[in-house]
Amino acid sequence: MSEPVLPETAELGERLGAVRSGIAAAAAAAGRDEREITTIVVTKFHPVTLIEQLAALGVQDVGESRHQEAQAKAQALAGLNLTWHFVGQVQGKKAKQVRAYANVIHSVDRVSLIDALGSESGAVDCFVQVNLTDDPARGGVSTVELDALVERVLATAGLRLLGLMAVAPLGAEPRRAFARVRELGERTRLLAPEARFLSMGMSQDYPEAIAEGATHLRIGTAITGNRPVAG
Ligand SMILES: *Cc1c(COP(=O)(O)O)cnc(C)c1O
Repeated sequence: MSEPVLPETAELGERLGAVRSGIAAAAAAAGRDEREITTIVVTKFHPVTLIEQLAALGVQDVGESRHQEAQAKAQALAGLNLTWHFVGQVQGKKAKQVRAYANVIHSVDRVSLIDALGSESGAVDCFVQVNLTDDPARGGVSTVELDALVERVLATAGLRLLGLMAVAPLGAEPRRAFARVRELGERTRLLAPEARFLSMGMSQDYPEAIAEGATHLRIGTAITGNRPVAG
């Protein structure tokens, strides 16, 4: 006999199913195999119980953007063997702690952070985050400094570069922004042939990201529903 499904789990399952269908449709339209696309459900601000429900629905990859919250959730849910993606800005002095629970860090964006994340014991997967705006506060390395930062990652023990991460700028045409990331990714592969992945696409723009080659989608509200107000 299976456990009764709570109404909120049923709704969550419906939203997850709708996004999965959207991903399949966008992949088919782009002539891509959807199995090459990893969907990370971004659960920031939501309680641990929501992540448990997602895991019960077959979700394997979860994303968090605030260190203390992420650390507590990863500890509480260690038994679920989820893959934890850290997608927020990392403070240098917390870098080692983030490394301890995050399987993938999407937001490597400066030399001091690379140095703080370096380690002689084991490698963590990471993306270099590119800033597509002129606002340095948005996180990410500028496109002019990208190559030098990629080389720094390659020269640092303990970091395995997967590729590039970006957020489409507000008010910009997302498809064009993601096309730019795709080009930057091709340039990065001249330096790092293995770094073939692209972390891009959120609730509002994942079809455009898939059309431009996204391999890692970071989707929050379209699956989780609205986020509770930050505590
Ligand atoms: C919150 C967040 C997301 C998910 O955003 P939604 O619009 O809720 O899908 C993706 N990436 C990053 C870096 C985020 O902080």
